[in-house]
Amino acid sequence: MGEEIEARLAWLEKELEMLTACVRDLRAELARTKGTAADKEKTEERQQVLGEGYANLARLYQEGYHICPMHFGTLRRGEECLVCTMLLRR
Ligand SMILES: [Zn+2]
Repeated sequence: MGEEIEARLAWLEKELEMLTACVRDLRAELARTKGTAADKEKTEERQQVLGEGYANLARLYQEGYHICPMHFGTLRRGEECLVCTMLLRR
């Protein structure tokens, strides 16, 4: 019983970390839209690098695998995963 709760807490902790990261990204995106042109150039460079990794992840997801940290690389068995979808929308 105690172990089960502990496992659940650990899972929730990871989930929370992920969501916090998502919020941080969204905040950064918001700041970016308000940013100056120079800032924009810098983030575009960064996005290009991120874009390649993103394309790989998107392909992995299309092939039916999880790309979220909790289930990374495991089969989705045709199910949609909220966390995966959130990651893809970044
Ligand atoms: Zn997933």
